Amino acid sequence: MMPPDAIILPQPRVQKLNLRFNALPLQADVLRLDELHPVISGNKWFKLEPYLKQAVQQNKKGIITWGGAWSNHIVATAAACKAANLQSVGIIRGDATAQWSATLKQAAEYGMQLHFSSRSLFKESALPDELRQLQNEYLLVPQGGYGELGAAGASTMLAGIKDTYSHIVCSVGTGTMLAGICRATPEETEVLGISSQKGNYSLEKAIASLLPSGRHYRYKVLHHLHHGSYARYTPELLQFMNDWFMATGIPTDFVYTAKVFYAYVHLSAENYFGAHHRILLVHSGGLQGNRGLPSGSLIYST
Ligand SMILES: *Cc1c(COP(=O)(O)O)cnc(C)c1O
Repeated sequence: MMPPDAIILPQPRVQKLNLRFNALPLQADVLRLDELHPVISGNKWFKLEPYLKQAVQQNKKGIITWGGAWSNHIVATAAACKAANLQSVGIIRGDATAQWSATLKQAAEYGMQLHFSSRSLFKESALPDELRQLQNEYLLVPQGGYGELGAAGASTMLAGIKDTYSHIVCSVGTGTMLAGICRATPEETEVLGISSQKGNYSLEKAIASLLPSGRHYRYKVLHHLHHGSYARYTPELLQFMNDWFMATGIPTDFVYTAKVFYAYVHLSAENYFGAHHRILLVHSGGLQGNRGLPSGSLIYST
């Protein structure tokens, strides 16, 4: 079996921003994880790598995991498993719709077997009956790669970063990436997570449980910059995505990263970061999800 080391991604680029946006002077670095791979995008590769290694070490046939119809995690798992010569099974939230999303079609093209699961079963991360017999031969990876291995993998995202920052700003879905960043970041840096979901107050606990004890971590999750909750958006957010692309050349996705850059501008306007800041913004990828938007919404294609 080909080891997952066979998948080699380049070192991510750090892009320097120095511009005026809405008359606001902005200066920050952007970690461009979106540029690493067209499908195994952004943070997903980092979170998946330890799971792939474990699946190979334990002689598993493949990976079973969970996600929604437009999930970056689902399509990244499908592509990474194919590259590592592992089978993949995706349990998808909701009923099998007549029309599969572009994400699900692509995952199936990478050989992922798709099973649809009722919302209640999905919530419990239960295996549908027809998959029970696979549970020993396959490694079960929680939705979004949440867990100790996912956080350990995410902590390697910052391996090439030499600078010290006062703030690192990233998106939060399950909180796995934020936990990984905290683990790789000195105590004096504040890690600021922008929750893509409305009112998900279980995040703080979910994140804390991925942080080894023995040191202090400085992080905060902001819950008010979700633009309508997970996978929702406002006309204002779409306008921002186009304006931001025009000003910086950085394409964003509406589910996660647009909310991060929007939050950064918004917080800068409120002088949140203070006078002597050095900020790293994490572009965690996810551009494929923009295929779920009405066509013509964006001035760039992703
Ligand atoms: C999955 C994803 C996230 C959320 O990462 P978590 O580790 O679940 O918090 C953020 N940004 C993008 C682009 C993603 O695809």
